[in-house]
Amino acid sequence: NADTAMYFAKDSGRNNYQFFKQSMNTAATERLDMERQLRIAIRNDQFELHYQPQIDLITKELVGMEALIRWRHPELGLVSPLRFIPIAEETGLIVPIGEWVLREACRQTKVWEDAGLKVVPVAVNLSARQFLKGSLVETVASALAESRLDPELLQLEITESLLMYEVEDTIQLLSRLNELGVSLAIDDFGTGYSSLSYLKRFPIDHLKIDRSFVRDVINDPDDASITSAIIAMAHNLKLKVVAEGVETEQQASFLKELGCEFAQGFLYSKPLPSAEMALFMQNEIPA
Ligand code: C2E
Ligand code: MG
Ligand code: MG
Ligand code: MG
Repeated sequence: NADTAMYFAKDSGRNNYQFFKQSMNTAATERLDMERQLRIAIRNDQFELHYQPQIDLITKELVGMEALIRWRHPELGLVSPLRFIPIAEETGLIVPIGEWVLREACRQTKVWEDAGLKVVPVAVNLSARQFLKGSLVETVASALAESRLDPELLQLEITESLLMYEVEDTIQLLSRLNELGVSLAIDDFGTGYSSLSYLKRFPIDHLKIDRSFVRDVINDPDDASITSAIIAMAHNLKLKVVAEGVETEQQASFLKELGCEFAQGFLYSKPLPSAEMALFMQNEIPA
């Protein structure tokens, strides 16, 4: 708190060091505690998926949904993935958690389809750790087999930075995933340093423009040019573009003018618990 900070700022160097050491220990303890609690969460099924609609900018129809994990913590309530995914990645716990996400997204989408809803493809985020693990293709294949979900209803999102890592191996892996019949999207595009000449070698279907460009696309000419360039390049490579974090009608119509196909963001819907996502899909059925 502010009082403590002021007190230590006025204090001697030695006390500053003590304070620093103490907060380091606290951070390390918190991480260990988080890791311990994540293990419990896996065992006790404390995770759930929320689904965020993806909308066609021209027809305004639902065209997809992204599965986003939440942790239903017994004391803390709903915990954001921004808080626990980094630790899950460092500890390797992302592998079992990520497998659960894949299986659950496939299972739920199949349940919706069997219930007669007009389902759209579900996009699942893959972390680097999962991607670099040898068994990813088998894991995806078994999630599909187990759920009997049509592979066309599954999309895998990988981040741009992954593409630059062991390019040849990545092309191989993406090709094998592609052969399963699932589609592939590059997430958070524009934040990494991918060489554009490589992009055409990957069997990718969608490119998702990072939220940081969309946010100021109306007011910041640099963000507008970058966004426009990304869309043009994507189209040259026959990729469809999803804009992330669309919050206003202005952003949506600007992106539509640039030829962006799809959008995802609070303007249309925040990520929804499964029951609400089912209602969203139901309302899509033409009366
Ligand atoms: P992401 O994959 O880029 O997901 C989009 C994030 O943007 C989501 O945050 C979503 O709620 C948020 N968002 C969507 N529309 C808007 C908007 O209009 N405005 C704003 N301000 N935010 C918007 P969320 O659910 O907190 O997830 C954060 C990140 O955590 C994800 O970013 C993804 O990198 C990671 N994540 C989530 N679920 C999983 C998962 O199952 N596995 C892995 N490996 N990572 C996940
Ligand atoms: Mg994503
Ligand atoms: Mg993203
Ligand atoms: Mg992001």
